[in-house]
Amino acid sequence: MIDFSLPQETQMLLETLRRFIREELQPHEAEVEEKQYVRPELARELRTKAKELGLFAMGLPEEVGGGGLSTVDMCLCEEEFGFTKDALVRRAFGAIPTSLLNCVGEQRDKYLLPTVAGEINVALGMTEPNAGSDAAGIKTAARRDGDDFVINGSKHFISDADLADAFIVTAVTDPSKGAKGISAFLIDRDTPGFTIGRIQYMMGLRATNHCELVFEDARLPQSQMLGPEGSGLFQALSTINQVRLGMVGGRAVGMARKLMQLSIDYANERKQFGQKIGDFQMVQAMLADMATEIFAARMMVLNAAWETDQGMDPRAKVSMVKYYASEMLGRVADKAVQIYGGMGYCREMPLEQLYRDARVYRIFDGASDIHRAVIARSLLKNGEMSL
Ligand SMILES: Cc1cc2nc3c(=O)[nH]c(=O)nc-3n(C[C@H](O)[C@H](O)[C@H](O)COP(=O)(O)OP(=O)(O)OC[C@H]3O[C@@H](n4cnc5c(N)ncnc54)[C@H](O)[C@@H]3O)c2cc1C
Repeated sequence: MIDFSLPQETQMLLETLRRFIREELQPHEAEVEEKQYVRPELARELRTKAKELGLFAMGLPEEVGGGGLSTVDMCLCEEEFGFTKDALVRRAFGAIPTSLLNCVGEQRDKYLLPTVAGEINVALGMTEPNAGSDAAGIKTAARRDGDDFVINGSKHFISDADLADAFIVTAVTDPSKGAKGISAFLIDRDTPGFTIGRIQYMMGLRATNHCELVFEDARLPQSQMLGPEGSGLFQALSTINQVRLGMVGGRAVGMARKLMQLSIDYANERKQFGQKIGDFQMVQAMLADMATEIFAARMMVLNAAWETDQGMDPRAKVSMVKYYASEMLGRVADKAVQIYGGMGYCREMPLEQLYRDARVYRIFDGASDIHRAVIARSLLKNGEMSL
């Protein structure tokens, strides 16, 4: 028997989260979009309130101070996050790189525990101007010099870099070993030789800034290495499934549901030719397609999340989720704008924002093309029954 019902505890958590988003975050959306930042005092207030309700760092394990949620529950929370702005979600609930869990000894006290407690922010820097999809092709180098490492190179598009107190950064420690020659380092914001470069303004996700990082002979002691030497790429990739299922899959389903709700309301209200536009079969067809695709994506997210919780490694399914959910969101956003007509294109309605925000989901955390390649490789190697 397959039981799709949610435990009462999960239902209560989602109820609390929905109320918090409705009462504490959504009232600030217009201001955040217009000013393109979250006021620091507002960010502090939201984080304090979220922490009081146990809503901060929910996906991190309990033993480090997190909420210890399962992957399924975290995906359901991410679905709720989709009903508000990314920047507000980050400020209120945290956006913590999971590879911080590889901290050992003093690193735990300095980076991991304060981040999970919401006292400091840590950003993840892997992408470089010449190495995005090809994460193993980075050129930022960490050269050994006595007991230290000296880092030179640059990163770009690093989310929340302007607010981060510290960074996890990948750098090549042994160029002869390819992907296995890349290590991860913990870098304090004030490290000499390290600067945060310009903000790179994006089409959407306004108020979450993305920046360049520049390393010019930045010297680090060996103790700043995160995890074993040569494991930098592996660390990032071993935790990325959670991101792809939750922050992309679950979030995309939530954003699409919001677009769907707005579209239903408008189709029921807006009149042309003396009748509601929802009476026109072509508008109905758009609504039906939107709902069907959202349902399919939601089931995919939850199935792959459940398998992850069972200790399985549904890698091809995670790629299908990342690919399908993000493309579904694009199609739903496009139809929602169409249903709203000129108002969909007008900045007075939230549709154009959501349309712009939706676009990047097909690009980051592995572009659609990369995930299609992963799915196809898995099929050709393991066959259809492997799914
Ligand atoms: C808003 C935003 C936030 C981000 N935040 C972060 C962050 O916090 N930290 C971080 O490290 N990075 C971050 N990134 C970077 C992001 O992960 C990369 O943009 C993404 O991996 C794609 O890399 P790229 O932009 O260099 O595109 P490219 O890799 O240059 O790809 C360009 C095109 O070529 C296609 N392509 C490339 N290789 C193949 C292939 N083998 N087969 C078929 N098609 C291929 C791609 O699918 C794409 O269509 C962020 C990006 C954005 C836009």
